[in-house]
Parts: sequence; structure tokens; C-alpha cells
Amino acid sequence: MENSSRHHKLRLIPSVDKLLSEPLFVLLQKKYSDEMLKRTIRIALDNLRKEVLAGSASEEDFTTESLAHRTEAVLNARIGRRLTTVINATGVVVHTNLGRSPLSQRVAERIVQAAVSYSNLEYNLDLGRRGERNSHLRQIMLELTGAESVLAVNNNAAAVLLALDALAKGREVIVSRGELIEIGGSFRIPDVMARSGAILREVGTTNRTHPRDYEDAINENTALILKVHTSNYRIVGFTKEVELDEMVAIGRDHGIPSMIDLGSGCLMDLSPYGLTDEPTVQQILASGVDVVSFSGDKLLGGPQAGILAGRFEYIEKMRTNPLARALRMDKLTLAALEATLEEYVTAAGPAEGIPTLAMIAKSPEALHQAAEALARSLAETLGQEAVISIESGVGRVGGGALPLGDLPGPRVAIHPRDISAARLEKELRSGKPPVIALVKEDSVLLDPRTLLHDQHFLIPDLVHEALKRARH
Ligand SMILES: *Cc1c(COP(=O)(O)O)cnc(C)c1O
Repeated sequence: MENSSRHHKLRLIPSVDKLLSEPLFVLLQKKYSDEMLKRTIRIALDNLRKEVLAGSASEEDFTTESLAHRTEAVLNARIGRRLTTVINATGVVVHTNLGRSPLSQRVAERIVQAAVSYSNLEYNLDLGRRGERNSHLRQIMLELTGAESVLAVNNNAAAVLLALDALAKGREVIVSRGELIEIGGSFRIPDVMARSGAILREVGTTNRTHPRDYEDAINENTALILKVHTSNYRIVGFTKEVELDEMVAIGRDHGIPSMIDLGSGCLMDLSPYGLTDEPTVQQILASGVDVVSFSGDKLLGGPQAGILAGRFEYIEKMRTNPLARALRMDKLTLAALEATLEEYVTAAGPAEGIPTLAMIAKSPEALHQAAEALARSLAETLGQEAVISIESGVGRVGGGALPLGDLPGPRVAIHPRDISAARLEKELRSGKPPVIALVKEDSVLLDPRTLLHDQHFLIPDLVHEALKRARH
């Protein structure tokens, strides 16, 4: 009896061609290629067959609507959009997992222009012949940093790799043991060094490195002295770090170039915002170091990129190195980086035009107003569903930058009545768009600092929907 019912149901499964003639599927045919659609329908029908055999299929599963639904679900799972906008309510500004620096509309428009048109990317309009991709950025970068020369590549990891390959392949690079860091995404200085073919010469100890440690390590095979900005942690307590100018002086005395991997690479003085730990690229270069490398999408506030700035002769070695071609920056990035750098010379200044810096520079009054407005609308929308309050918290610059650099500010706390805060946080992540929030004890915390555009208007409904889903 069971078996014959299953047999009967199996025969109810339509053929691919039969389905394709149904109006609902004709709509899908307008959207997707024949090949993709047929492959997807086969998978959808296969899944139904398995359910029949498992005894879990019901009458409704055989309707054309249900089969179209099923097919669309398979299509979405296989080719649907995955990279999606999220609302960052964590208060971590340069959030490495959430795409680091968001760009302004103005910068985004420059990307669109570069994307949909031809451009003078590698064409010299004055001479009417081949030009150089890096020439577009050079002038404004020199203006902003005071460097003799600059080169931009795909990201800062690539910049470090290129610098080591060009300046130290097969030779020794001196680095303090306290700076042999790993940053997110398994970028480890010793590994990058090995890849570049440079030989790591560790000096000092984890917590203390003295000038004589560098001096003692120098030999005829030394190519470079490298300092790595320990951007995602600090060694505190009984410590001794050789200052950059001491390191530069040692290099100079022995005719060896010095380099610093700055990591974040800030072009704006952040001390007015209480962040005194991060020197600017200009200050670093003024110390006389020969090469600095830094990211485009951390504190600079632009697109993913790696920038090398410093002495002409060393930058030339990198520019003409074969790896430079493999690590080069694409035209969309170039457009965005150029547009971002222009914000640094506007009358309003970078803290107005660059979202990352604007979030760092938000005034306590603006943050409090934002928190109060958000708390009010949450209380109105949620009514008895949750208790809303405002507490003080500490946001972060993030992105491996300023590990001890706090961004204090208010946070809106949602204490749900019927469910746990952990459950609400999870449901918020499956909203459209997802909200990424923090949990502290029995509350979900929303930091207004990192809310962009009009996102605070969306949040009350998103929380309401999340609570509803959690109760079902
Ligand atoms: C972030 C960072 C890098 C890597 O930069 P990407 O732009 O992510 O490639 C390298 N070194 C330091 C010190 C960093 O902080």
C-alpha cells in the first residue's frame, strides 16, 4: 500500500519539458538561460523525487506553483546574490569582516564613471601615446605625503611583498621579534618574508629590542631594516621598542635602507578625536625612513589598495620589478582612490567627505542625539516587546588600527522580554538587510556611530521583524 502510493506519486512528477511549457516557467525562461534553467529544474525534480521516496512529499508539492517556487529556490541557492549590504551596529569603524571602509556616494560615482567608459588609464593625452597607470595618483599622493615617489598596488600585503622582493630578495631583512605579527586573514610577516625570498633576521626579544640588537645583526648581506607597526596589539609593561628615528639612523650609518609597514596609514591627524597613537604618513616620512607601506581602505578611508611611498630610487626598484605587474591596482580602485585623496584637500576637509573619518570624528553631541532618536523610535515600534535604554560603551577604530584607541560613545540597549538577547542578535543577522550587533549580558547593543545614511530609520522595523521571527 505504502509502496504503491509512492509509485503513484513518482508518476505525478512532471517532465522538464512539460514544466517549461507552463506560464510560470515561461517567465523564468525570460530571465535565465535554457541550460541553467533545465539544470535547475532537474535538481528541483530530483529533490522532490527524494522526498517522495522518503515519504515526506504531500499533494501540494506537485502543483506548478510549488514546483516553480522550488526551482527558484534552487536558482537562488546556486546563483543568487550573496554579497549583501549589512548594517554595522558594532561601533567598529574599519570592520575587517564587514568590508572595512565604506566609500562616499561621490567616490562611488567616480568608480561608475571609470567602469562604464574608456579612460586614459594607460594613455598619455598630451603625447598621444602609452601612458602609465600610476601617474594619475602620483601628484596628489606626493602633495599629501611629502614623499619623493609613490606606487600603488592591490593591497598592503602586496605592497610589503613587492618591497621585500624588490629590495631584499636573497638577502637579509632585520626585524624586531616584537614585530613579527600576524594580522587577520593569515598575513604573517615571517611568511610574507619567506615568499618574497628575503631572509628574516630576527633581533631582540618579544618585549624588548635595543638599538644594539639591530647594530649587531648588520652584516654584508643585510639588505633592509624593517619596522612593522604592531597595529592589532600592543606589548605593554616592561618594554623597549627602538624608535623609528633610531632605526633610520642605524640604517643610514651603515648605508642600509629602512622601511616601515604602517598598516593603517593615516593621512589625517586624529589627535583632536582623542586618538594619539597613530602617527600620520607625513610624520613618518619626515623621520627620514626610506619606504613606508600602508593600506588604502583602513584609516585612509578609500578602496582596498596598498600604497608605497618614499625615496625615488627604492620606489623605482619596485615599480620596475616584475611582481609590480602582477600586483597592480585595477582601474576602478584607481578611480576610487584618486577621488578619496581629493577629499583631503577640500575646504570641508576629509572628516566631512570620507565616511570612515566622519564616523571617527562624530561629536559626542551628535552621537547622543542619534542614540536618543533611535531609542525613542525603537520604544515606539516595540512597545511591550522590549525594554530600551541607553548605556555608554566603547567603539573601536578597528582594521588592525589603533588597538588601544577607544571611541567612547552611547549605545542603545534592547532587552527583549520573551527571548534571549543572543536569539535576537541571531535573528537580526537574518533580516533584510542583516543588522550586525553586539550582545552584552541580556541586551543587544546598537552603536549609532557606525550607522550610515538613513539606516537608523530601518532599525526599529528590522528589530520588530526579528522579534516576530524569534517567537515563531
Ligand atoms: C592591515 C595590515 C597589513 C595588510 O594590509 P592589507 O591592505 O589588508 O593587505 C599589513 N601590515 C599591517 C601592519 C597591517 O595592519
